[in-house]
Amino acid sequence: MKIAIVGLGLAGSYLFKRLTLGTDHQITAFERHYSDKQQRLVCGWGVHSTDFDHYARQCLLEPSDYYLHQAQKAYLTVGDASIVVPVFDLCTFNKQTFLTDLQAHIPGFFAKIFHGKGAYHDHGIERSSFDLIIDATGYRRSMLGPISNGIDQFIHCRQYVIQYEDSPPYDDFHMELYRDGYLWLFPLTNGLCHIGAGTFDHSHKEKLLQFFEKYGDYTILEVGNKPVRIIPTSQCLPFSKENIIGVGEAIGVVRPLVGEGIIPSLRSAEILFDCLCSDSLQDYENLILQEFKSHDREWSYVQARLRQDKWACLWHGLHLKNPHGKLSFRQKIKIYQGM
Ligand SMILES: Cc1cc2nc3c(=O)[nH]c(=O)nc-3n(C[C@H](O)[C@H](O)[C@H](O)COP(=O)(O)OP(=O)(O)OC[C@H]3O[C@@H](n4cnc5c(N)ncnc54)[C@H](O)[C@@H]3O)c2cc1C
Repeated sequence: MKIAIVGLGLAGSYLFKRLTLGTDHQITAFERHYSDKQQRLVCGWGVHSTDFDHYARQCLLEPSDYYLHQAQKAYLTVGDASIVVPVFDLCTFNKQTFLTDLQAHIPGFFAKIFHGKGAYHDHGIERSSFDLIIDATGYRRSMLGPISNGIDQFIHCRQYVIQYEDSPPYDDFHMELYRDGYLWLFPLTNGLCHIGAGTFDHSHKEKLLQFFEKYGDYTILEVGNKPVRIIPTSQCLPFSKENIIGVGEAIGVVRPLVGEGIIPSLRSAEILFDCLCSDSLQDYENLILQEFKSHDREWSYVQARLRQDKWACLWHGLHLKNPHGKLSFRQKIKIYQGM
C-alpha cells in the first residue's frame, strides 16, 4: 500500500518506524516543522518506564538510552493537602532524541520524509495518490477536520525549561492539582526541569508565576504554549473519513485527568499497526474505543470537578481506575477533600 503519515510527533514517528521496519508498504511522511528546527516539543517528557520500554523495544531501540530521571516518589498537592506517593515506574525520557531515532531510516523508494511541509485536507497533499493517509497531527486534526459533535475541548498549557542554580525546589516529580487544571515539575538532568501548567480558564500563567516567585534562583531556557485535547476518544469521532484514519491525540487518546498522552498515543499507533498488518482496519474504531474506555470515567470526574459537584466528584472519583494504581483509599479521600 502507499501510505502517507501526516505529523511526525510520537504517534506518527512510531508508526513510521514500525511500518518501515516491519512491512513493505511505501511510506511518505509530512511534518510541518523543519528537522533542524525541531521544536523542543512542549511536553513534560514524563512516562511510565515499563510501557516506554515496551514501545522502544518494538522499534528495536534501547530504552535506557533515553532515560533522564527515574522517579522514586511523587509530591502531590491538592488544595491544602500534600502527600508523597512512592512511585517505581515513572521517569522522564529524552523525547527529542527518541523522535529523531524513530524517524531515522534509509531514504529511498519505500520511505520518504518531508520536513517543513504541512499537509491539510484541502491542500499540501495529493490525497488520491495514497491508498491510506494517517492523520497524526495531534490536537490539530489537519486531515480529519473537526469532530462530528462539534464540542471539542482543550486544556491550555504553558511549559518552561528551567535551570536551577542549586537544585530544583523538588528533588523528584511534583504535581499540583487544581479544580480546573494542574501544575507539574518534572526533573530532567543536572538541575534542569520542565515546569508547566494547564488550566481550562487560562489561569495557568498566573499559577506558574506564583510558583516561580516562591522558588527563586533559576534561569528560563525556553518557554512554549500548547493545548491538549482532553475529551475522551468516545467523543472524538469520526476516527476515519474517505481514505484518512486518525491516531494519537488526533482521536483524543489523552487521559483527561492528568493529560498523559505519550503512552496512549503509542498504544493507539500500535493498534493501528496491528490492524494494518492483519488487514482488519474495519476493527480499528472498536478496538480504540475499548482500549480507552476508562477515560470516559476520568472525563466525567473532570467535568464534575469543573461544576464543583462534590457528590459527583466523589462518585466518579471512587470509581476511577488508575492504570498505574498506586493511591490507597485514604490517599484518595485526602485528595477529594482538598478539591
Ligand atoms: C505542555 C504539555 C505537556 C505534556 N506533558 C506530557 C507528559 O509529561 N507525559 C505525557 O504522557 N503526555 C504529556 N503531554 C501530552 C502529549 O505530549 C501528547 O498527548 C502526545 O505527544 C500526542 O502525540 P501525537 O503524536 O498524537 O501528537 P503531537 O505530539 O502533537 O504530534 C503532532 C505532530 O504533527 C505535526 N503537525 C501538525 N499539523 C500538521 C500538518 N498539517 N502537517 C504536517 N504536520 C503537522 C506537529 O508539528 C507535530 O509534530 C503533554 C502535552 C502538553 C501540551
